[in-house]
Amino acid sequence: MSDCCNRKDETCCGEGRTVLLYACSGGANVAEAADRAARALMADGCGTMFCLAGLGAGIDGMIQTARDADLNVVIDGCGMDCARKVFDGRGLTNYVQVKVTDLGIEKVKGVRATDEQVEVVAVRVKEAMAES
Ligand code: SF4
Repeated sequence: MSDCCNRKDETCCGEGRTVLLYACSGGANVAEAADRAARALMADGCGTMFCLAGLGAGIDGMIQTARDADLNVVIDGCGMDCARKVFDGRGLTNYVQVKVTDLGIEKVKGVRATDEQVEVVAVRVKEAMAES
């Protein structure tokens, strides 16, 4: 994991903003990569991971938290776009999406995400944050 967000300089992708991280956190290897990347980014100070399931469940306070954020980063494992669809279904538009299968990582049943794949996702999320 790079130290981008811990440097707290002008290149820090999340500095000065409320950035929330949501991973699809499904059962597939690509969802595991999404989930682990979100947790690693939170540990690295890039943002705060929030519960996608709470949005899906329609918890008002959690929807409002997402609405109030400066940026929500939605990390989906694959083209099913489950996390993005939760956001769209709640009328939330203040997000950027990263999709793991767009990063050359194949969705494969019965395998675990690797540390290298998690790093690839985390790096792309930081880039997306810097661009947003
Ligand atoms: S986006 Fe893909 S990997 Fe993530 S929960 Fe949905 S089907 Fe599973």
